[in-house]
Amino acid sequence: MPELPEVEALAAFLRENAVGKVVARVDLAGIQTLKTFDPPLSSLAGLEVTGAGRMGKFLDIDVSGIHLVVHLARAGWLHWRAELPTAPPKPGKGPLAVRVHLDDGAGFDLTEQGTRKGLAVYAVRSPSSEVPGIARLGPDALEVDAESFAALMRGRKGQLKGALTDQTLVSGIGNAYSDEILHVAKLSPFKGADKLTDGESLRLFDAVRTTLTDALERQVGQQAAKLKGEKRANLRVHARTGLPCPVCGDTVREVSFADTSLQYCPTCQTGGKPLADRRMSKLLR
Ligand SMILES: [Zn+2]
Repeated sequence: MPELPEVEALAAFLRENAVGKVVARVDLAGIQTLKTFDPPLSSLAGLEVTGAGRMGKFLDIDVSGIHLVVHLARAGWLHWRAELPTAPPKPGKGPLAVRVHLDDGAGFDLTEQGTRKGLAVYAVRSPSSEVPGIARLGPDALEVDAESFAALMRGRKGQLKGALTDQTLVSGIGNAYSDEILHVAKLSPFKGADKLTDGESLRLFDAVRTTLTDALERQVGQQAAKLKGEKRANLRVHARTGLPCPVCGDTVREVSFADTSLQYCPTCQTGGKPLADRRMSKLLR
């Protein structure tokens, strides 16, 4: 799932390659992807792309005051293409959801792999009031200061993993970077957010900053197609179950939930103790 660094890098890529060009046409191939009806996608035709930015994990493409807002969800992606086919795509076939043609023949596809349809596209005039997910966003993970971050954690009941990935608390962090951040901070994903000492809270804040900033530095300036590989190549614990921790050499472990999982290093994060994996123990009973 694209998180703050990937979405920011996509926005930077679009600022380089799409801003200043005029939208020629927008094709909608996945009807369920479009969450709004006014203004219609067709109203973007003839308008200049004037900006591209990010709000939390949402990508915001400003087309002369009409915002094409994209939430890539778990399996969505933006594919830049120097030459787009001109024939209209067949609706409902394959991963293509939306195709944006620019006036020089280039453009981009918004796609989603798999059967879980989470990709969401909105055409709105005011993203912060018209897109519910944006209206609810907490402060950006790279903009919140240490004091506000500590206060947010203190006021939060529940585990750190859930706190870091709750977009209404702090925005931009998802499943992968929360694992990475907790590993850098040497904190258990199951520790209560409101149980952090002042020192731990500051360590977590620093880990948020360094993890996201490092990823951003690697990704901004990369071609859109390279971002996912770049992200994967630099992970320390996320999606590395059974592999050695790059810090201490212990084996990275996993806790599975109904539709997701987290990874962590016992030596670095939980005093050497493996965390209970509820799903596994239920299966074994
Ligand atoms: Zn370790």
